[in-house]
Amino acid sequence: MVASRSARERKATTEAGRLSTVRIDVGTDQQFVYRISCSSCVPRAGRTWSTYRSGGDNGYLAAMDRWTFHLAEKHPGETAPCLAFLPQAQQRLHERREARAADRSDGDG
Ligand SMILES: [Zn+2]
Repeated sequence: MVASRSARERKATTEAGRLSTVRIDVGTDQQFVYRISCSSCVPRAGRTWSTYRSGGDNGYLAAMDRWTFHLAEKHPGETAPCLAFLPQAQQRLHERREARAADRSDGDG
């Protein structure tokens, strides 16, 4: 478990590119918890941009998707391997939104 965690951390760091700091913790439920922070974005409030998701491969994907959107939006000049998956990330975001919308019976306008 521990070896696989650091292997995942290295893989995620490579995919997320040079602006990212990836940390993987093991949560209380023994699930991986993924945190990706941006070393370039330190707002005036003093908190770095970061995304935080838990839960195995889904958590990894969800965190990497958020990071990919952040890169594309805030750092358009940057290159990172994860940007190659931007279309898939957008597709997943779309599907999640559709799933959420389908859950609501009363609609949200
Ligand atoms: Zn940033």
